[in-house]
Amino acid sequence: MLAGTPRVPTPVNEPNLSYLPGSPERKELKARLAAMAAEKIDIPIIIGGREIRTGKVRQAAMPHDHQHVLADWHVAEPGHVRDAIAAAAEAQKEWGRWPLEDRAAVFLRAAELLTTTWRATLNAATMLGQSKTAFQAEIDAASEMIDFWRFNPCFAQELYGEQPISTHAAWNSAEYRPLEGFVYAVTPFNFTSIAGNLPTAPALMGNTVVWKPASSAMLSAYYIMRLLQAAGLPPGVINFVPGDSVEISNILLDSADLAGVHFTGSTPVFHGMWKKVGDNIDRYKNYPRLVGETGGKDFIVAHPSADAQELAVAIARGGFEYQGQKCSAASRVYVPQSLWPGVRDRVVGMMREMQMGDPADFRTFIGAVIDRKSFDKIGGYLDDARRNATIVQGGGAKGERGYFIEPTLVETKDPGYRLMCEEIFGPVVTAHAYPDATWTDLLATVDRTSPYALTGAVFARDGAAIREARHALRNAAGNFYINDKPTGAVVGQQPFGGARASGTNDKAGSKMNLLRWVSARTIKETFAPPRDYKYGYMTEK
Ligand code: NAD
Repeated sequence: MLAGTPRVPTPVNEPNLSYLPGSPERKELKARLAAMAAEKIDIPIIIGGREIRTGKVRQAAMPHDHQHVLADWHVAEPGHVRDAIAAAAEAQKEWGRWPLEDRAAVFLRAAELLTTTWRATLNAATMLGQSKTAFQAEIDAASEMIDFWRFNPCFAQELYGEQPISTHAAWNSAEYRPLEGFVYAVTPFNFTSIAGNLPTAPALMGNTVVWKPASSAMLSAYYIMRLLQAAGLPPGVINFVPGDSVEISNILLDSADLAGVHFTGSTPVFHGMWKKVGDNIDRYKNYPRLVGETGGKDFIVAHPSADAQELAVAIARGGFEYQGQKCSAASRVYVPQSLWPGVRDRVVGMMREMQMGDPADFRTFIGAVIDRKSFDKIGGYLDDARRNATIVQGGGAKGERGYFIEPTLVETKDPGYRLMCEEIFGPVVTAHAYPDATWTDLLATVDRTSPYALTGAVFARDGAAIREARHALRNAAGNFYINDKPTGAVVGQQPFGGARASGTNDKAGSKMNLLRWVSARTIKETFAPPRDYKYGYMTEK
């Protein structure tokens, strides 16, 4: 034990590199993109630090060039999933006893490696495997993941510092124990940083983890695992188990040792997992912690006092960056009729300029959507819009080479229209122009329209209107923006998560989230224990 109380370095948000023409980071990233596109790697399962190759492989391809295979990845079989539970149990004996500063050092080291020598690799993997542009990869795979790994240790230290009061006669303390058993981390395709955060946040708190990465983001997931190993993560603390999601989940959720689920993905999948845990409740040793950040139907609502240009930019960036595949992407927009023609024309002008294609060409603004399933699903919504609404701009889909969907703006007269309610997860924004005088009623419509409550934005210059919207939409979004687009939350600045059908709102990258991965033990030490069982008042009748 160290004779001292070390302090975690005070974190600051990692600045985004610019990738301007001529910059060294641009040169390095371009070189890494070319090298990684030219190779096909083999991705093993990693359990207890051991690489396992089953020979049963699936392929990771580029969404924007789906015949271009980047990797073969080995599919875990049921026995491997059980081995991963055993490896996690074995690793926890040691890891759970490490002092926080030693655990934190692993993730701080990972953050530093990602800031320096690993940055181009994680960004390139995210661009090639998930079709993000250089900027979208940088804010995700580099900056946000670095922030998670630098801020979480600081939050963990603050949490450890929260102690009960003591008296001269007794010293009370809280011990923030890791959970008993393993944590199951299930990660989505759309953010490399979330894939990095979901297994590591519980691990930081002393837990050990079985991690099932998303099949459609396997390249970046594998490099995260390799980076953590390079940073000194001991074998078995995080076990990397790619494979069939239903088969893996059934085994893990049936285990008596399930201590928690750290999930980000779609609402129906989380509902399914929650139900399974409910059905299994009699068999667990503890009540599993269920943390899930799920879908969204994120809104921008504009007041007649809004600035048309600022609003149009928020719609264009908030709706179409990363092809609308952000849980926070603006996908339903409410604009007063007096502003709509001007806003519509501005947005359409921007959409016409957006270049769609391979993100390795840095002029690209729109890449491909993630896979065939998603391409077909979005196509179905576009067909619906052609029949039941007006497509103002876009609407095209081309899947021969890559899964390309044009950025699309739909206009509807019906605020209850399907495309105003359901999560599409593609570059489709649906707008409703409302009569200016119905602002107050409209806010009630925005609140009621969708089951989700993840992000939302109000645009207005009138302070009273902002106050009214902030109150009326209090439960409609876990992240609420005033005169800003509803995407782009920054760790430490806008802790992220939503309620209603959008999740358990445990705010990724915050103390609230870390609290879910510990089980406090209260310890009381009495300095002078009583020596007589009788109380003083009992000496007389
Ligand atoms: P998804 O639900 O299809 O998959 C998420 C993960 O769950 C993947 O690892 C997948 O393999 C696994 N999975 C799929 N079916 C499963 C099953 N039946 N049982 C167990 N696991 C299963 O989601 P996705 O397409 O990867 O990501 C997009 C979704 O994630 C969107 O709904 C989006 O809103 C949501 N999301 C939410 C947040 C947030 O913070 N709220 C952040 C990112 C993404």
